[in-house]
Amino acid sequence: MMFRFLIPIKCAGLILTLMGLSYQSVAQRIYGGFYTADKLKNSIENCRKYDWAIQLKNSTLQKAAVWKNKTDDALWAMVPAQDVPRTIDVTLNRAAREPKVSGCLNCGNDLSAFGNYPYIVTVEKHPWKIECPVCHALFPTNDFEKYYKSGINKKGVFDSSIADKKLLFNTAHPDVQDPLHQFGVDDGWGYNLTKDKVYRFVGYYNWKQWNYIIDGLSLLSDAWLYSGDTVYAHKAAILLDRIADVYPDMDWAPYAKKGWYHSDGGGGKGKIGGSIWETGLVTTMALSYDKILSGTLNDAALFAFLSKKAKAFQLPSKKGSRELWVHNIDQNILLTIFDAVMKEDIRGNQGMHQLSVAAAAIALNTQPETNKWLNWLFEPLGGAIPGIMLTRFNHDGTSDEGAPGYALMLSGLITQTAALLHGYNGYTAHDILMEFPQLRAGFMVACNMLVAGKSIPNQGDSGATGLVSSSGCNPAFVALGFWLYKDAELGLLAYTANGNKGKGLHAPVYTSNPEALSSEIEAIGKKNHHVSVASRLLSGHGYAILETGGKKNPTGLIMNYGRSINHAHPDQLNIDLFSFGKWLAPDHGYPEYATKWPSNEEWTGTTLSHNLVLVNQKPQKENWTGHTKLFQSVDGFSAVTVSAPDAYPGIEKYERTLLLIGGTKTDTNSYVVDFFNVKGGNDHLLSFHGPPGTMTTTGLQLRQEPGTYAGPDVPKGAWAKGFPVGYSHLYAVQKDSSPAKMFTINWRVSDQYRPVKDPRPVQLKLHVLTPVNDVAVAKGDPPQNKAGNPKNLDYILLHKNGKDLNSVFVSILEPYVAAPFIKNARQIAVDSSEVTILEIENENGTIDYIIKNNVGGHVSTKEIQLEGTIAWLHTRKGKLLRAVLIDMPYLKYKGFSLKGLPSLTGKVLDMNKKTSGEGWILVDRPLPESVTGQYILINNKTNRDAAYLIKEVAPQGKNTRLNFGPLNFVSGFKGPEVNVRKTRVPQTYDLGYEYEFGIGDAFEISQVREIKK
Ligand SMILES: [Zn+2]
Ligand SMILES: [Zn+2]
Repeated sequence: MMFRFLIPIKCAGLILTLMGLSYQSVAQRIYGGFYTADKLKNSIENCRKYDWAIQLKNSTLQKAAVWKNKTDDALWAMVPAQDVPRTIDVTLNRAAREPKVSGCLNCGNDLSAFGNYPYIVTVEKHPWKIECPVCHALFPTNDFEKYYKSGINKKGVFDSSIADKKLLFNTAHPDVQDPLHQFGVDDGWGYNLTKDKVYRFVGYYNWKQWNYIIDGLSLLSDAWLYSGDTVYAHKAAILLDRIADVYPDMDWAPYAKKGWYHSDGGGGKGKIGGSIWETGLVTTMALSYDKILSGTLNDAALFAFLSKKAKAFQLPSKKGSRELWVHNIDQNILLTIFDAVMKEDIRGNQGMHQLSVAAAAIALNTQPETNKWLNWLFEPLGGAIPGIMLTRFNHDGTSDEGAPGYALMLSGLITQTAALLHGYNGYTAHDILMEFPQLRAGFMVACNMLVAGKSIPNQGDSGATGLVSSSGCNPAFVALGFWLYKDAELGLLAYTANGNKGKGLHAPVYTSNPEALSSEIEAIGKKNHHVSVASRLLSGHGYAILETGGKKNPTGLIMNYGRSINHAHPDQLNIDLFSFGKWLAPDHGYPEYATKWPSNEEWTGTTLSHNLVLVNQKPQKENWTGHTKLFQSVDGFSAVTVSAPDAYPGIEKYERTLLLIGGTKTDTNSYVVDFFNVKGGNDHLLSFHGPPGTMTTTGLQLRQEPGTYAGPDVPKGAWAKGFPVGYSHLYAVQKDSSPAKMFTINWRVSDQYRPVKDPRPVQLKLHVLTPVNDVAVAKGDPPQNKAGNPKNLDYILLHKNGKDLNSVFVSILEPYVAAPFIKNARQIAVDSSEVTILEIENENGTIDYIIKNNVGGHVSTKEIQLEGTIAWLHTRKGKLLRAVLIDMPYLKYKGFSLKGLPSLTGKVLDMNKKTSGEGWILVDRPLPESVTGQYILINNKTNRDAAYLIKEVAPQGKNTRLNFGPLNFVSGFKGPEVNVRKTRVPQTYDLGYEYEFGIGDAFEISQVREIKK
């Protein structure tokens, strides 16, 4: 491929140019490109003036103290070179066919409950030792520090060939005859318990040690920024100079080749560590350098010290002046970073290496190199930011990753890159903030994802089983977005995310008058109305969030229908319910290992472990998104229908409709009605699980079965051979082979279920209202190596088989604390196969009727006549209290005759085809002002969900112009795609755009009518 050849040439050119220029340019260079004289001055002043800044300074100085107190010699000696091994796992071996983690060498305990990185490393307290979190034994048992020091060669780096081998013994058992004399001894290459069982204590320590050093560098440079005290710049400068000495030779590949683990994405590349996490290390190095450059201007002691070191050791570069110091770091850190990005030794998830290059380029602050590197960020085969932003970044502000943790990463990284460019005066060719208006959403999306205002969904390789966490929704980050965009929506969200106040939010510490932002946000918050609980669609990311319940019991139902690629699971249309402060149908969250690992490949990471219908005993196929078919919400009643045809290609229908009912001021209870429509295939298996705790059933006759769901002879966790994937992970099976037509299952949460500080006996009752062939309950284990994860979950498996099935699985989810509020729920048999009617008798004497037309159009039988989609009738003793009709012109049922509204339909006539500006379309009909705040669903022919929130309605003759705010409709570039840094990106930006929908596409806007008697 042409471009693979071109890049190194270009890069080599840059290196030569810089080498030629550098002495001239560095001689004049006082500041980094970002941290200018003004920014440094503002920082120091603000850190004297404002409470929050004083606090920031004080806490930074406190943490930096340990670094400040180190002698120059000690700091210099801290930096290990290439030949000291690094790894992120003590026992995992990638070369082994079935990787196994071994427990602690001393106590034998399985450490998996302590997370993926269980050992404790405290560099200051226990240098060159790692500590078991259970028995607190220290490894290795030998004095590696002494051994390391004995191996420092003329170049000042560790060389095992000269190190004193006599030091390699267990210091607690110094007698050579002692059988434990060699037990737990690690020379750097690991302790071999047996031929196959190796413990890499030193490698693990050194990984952590490098992180510690880079953290120290960051603390020192921040301490300088906030205090202006040159002692911090001095100490940081020593670390940077020493890192620059060793950095060009750092290479992770030799360790990867031995089967060791690091964050290299399996590619075996990296420098200090795997190529992915390397981006974080180098970005910190570059930013720290940018901060402290001017702090070294008159530091004669620094250059004298370095000169002394150059005399004592054969160092790779000359020392003794500021020019030489700047040259060493420019050349051996910044240039090496750019070079390593070109070679993909530094390559992270999208946005990571771009941020590294931006930080390095701006710290270099040397033209023309800096701007060449920055231009590289925007080249199709370079940093490919336009390609990524326009093909992989959606209008909700997430990337093409399926799991929140990963999907939010790109906005976090690109906004940092944007803010860096925004703050660098030397570059004007691109402004990411303005070029890609949807980036604005990146500042808001984490907060917009919060279900019931409380928790980001645990979905895909993200979060943990039932974890309630709002981390990611950071008011300060939203406020930064407001500072950059001055957009009222951002201001309002910053205000609400900050607990309905502007206080505490401010512009960055390096700006003048940073507190002005706080009053601006306060003013916006006071002026605008904000609803804390509101059903919504994140159609770009693929979340439907139904909410109700207000402050008393905020309840949220999330259906995920977006990406099932990358770090997602094959889980389109999966649901989870948040009520009474807990996730009640919890996703497994982050797997045991996000890699080829039995429990991930065949259980956590497959369809069956989710609340989904498995069709033909196969997991879903990976694809981009489902499509919203209906969305509507009024107080106490929300509805959504999403279809996911690409999850099961060849199946006629794979569609889920969810209603969230109740939770109004007068009735705080709420419940979910779930219609899962699957048409086609000969085996439908609905899997559902509640929260961990005690499960009981009513109406089932269960019989214990041997083995697992895969069969009586298949043991738990066996790789799927001759039986469907996932079945062997369902154990302790009980079956009812001829179940009743309707039955219930009740989960009562364990008092160990998080958040544990809430001791309410929360329960979830599932009313199954659909006849099936057989029912089983079974246990399945969520990931076992995550702190706080339950031991197991109770699953219910509703099974139907037969030829060309057409199933509507109907169930009700009832969350409650003390006693259930639904007395009885049943499906009413009617003389129409097109319509489902449910009768829900509540304990308070009311009866709800739910009517759903599964096909659309007219239904006319003896019992019911209607046209349209969904209705809810809330009655007492035969009298109507309230009705909600969605897209339903009329309904006659039980003596009620109600009139509603049809949905509004039409065609798209025109649209904004540019990438910038606002997302507007022109449609071929008049539309009422009242569609503002509704979603328009465009029936497109692409793989995107073209559902947009209408923000503005403007009549234009017989037509109407609708505005959706700052977003664009581009879904990609025309022309071929190529792999650049493990991502498919457009090869060129010259052939025009692909769009999420097209002119001429039909649309629908739902209409709702509420009737209150
Ligand atoms: Zn132990
Ligand atoms: Zn999952």
